[in-house]
Amino acid sequence: NNQMTLAVRVVSYGAGLRLLLAQDVTQLKKMERMRKDFVANVSHELRTPLTVLKGYLETLQDMDDGLSPLLTNSVQQMQAQTDRMQNLVDDLLLLTRLETQQRKTQCIDVPALLTQICKESRDMLDNADRIVLVLDTQVHIVGEELALRSAFSNLLSNALKYSPDNAPVKIRWYQTAESVILSVEDNGEGIAAADIPRVSERFYRIEVRRSKKVPGIGLGLAIVKHALMRHDARLVITSDLGKGSCFSCHFPVAQICTPKANIMPTDP
Ligand code: ADP
Repeated sequence: NNQMTLAVRVVSYGAGLRLLLAQDVTQLKKMERMRKDFVANVSHELRTPLTVLKGYLETLQDMDDGLSPLLTNSVQQMQAQTDRMQNLVDDLLLLTRLETQQRKTQCIDVPALLTQICKESRDMLDNADRIVLVLDTQVHIVGEELALRSAFSNLLSNALKYSPDNAPVKIRWYQTAESVILSVEDNGEGIAAADIPRVSERFYRIEVRRSKKVPGIGLGLAIVKHALMRHDARLVITSDLGKGSCFSCHFPVAQICTPKANIMPTDP
């Protein structure tokens, strides 16, 4: 259709003087929609060939008779790369869902969700004590489970990835007068002040990281940002280069909810 989209801003100059600025953003909006559709379609279309490739690679790997060492190595490399591509496609699809899907909220038991996420991560670590979970409050919040789970697990996996193998990572769920906060604190390499505003951009990775070959594609924090936007929550990053970082998600207290009580059958 031919509808025009205007972005309107009011600028105050004091003494009751106000200026109304209107900008035609129709074209910008159209391009934004095209970008989202393109990314959604490409990621969706990549899923089928990837599944087929992975299937054939698994068959090849199962042929334990007579694959030469060179071929075995090549199959392993191809598997690692298809896994990487699968992660990229999954993250792009998740990001698209977070950007476009309608919100469907329920009362989420965050302490239980965090306990579960920590357990899953501990199961994959040699040193399970690395993850310290502190639940200072038991409050639940109105939200979307998939979005919250993705945000929290991305923050935890980053904290583990970007700190030394045995360094503790502390996760805390607590409440202040204005917010309920989830913080993820690590004793890792930290982030330079200039990089902090950029780390949640799509595909942004700090240069040193690339060279050190820590696996990742730069979509984790973009997912966190979009997941939080769906909850009117803010991501606050504080970091000391060489000492560690703290990523905290601030949810407005207005989002606290009371879980539905279990209804016990009453005597007739
Ligand atoms: P990825 O981890 O896939 O590179 P992210 O979007 O999750 O992508 O993070 C973007 C960049 O921010 C990372 O490449 C890394 O340089 C930096 N970063 C994220 N989390 C941390 C952390 N806890 N400590 C230090 N640097 C981090």
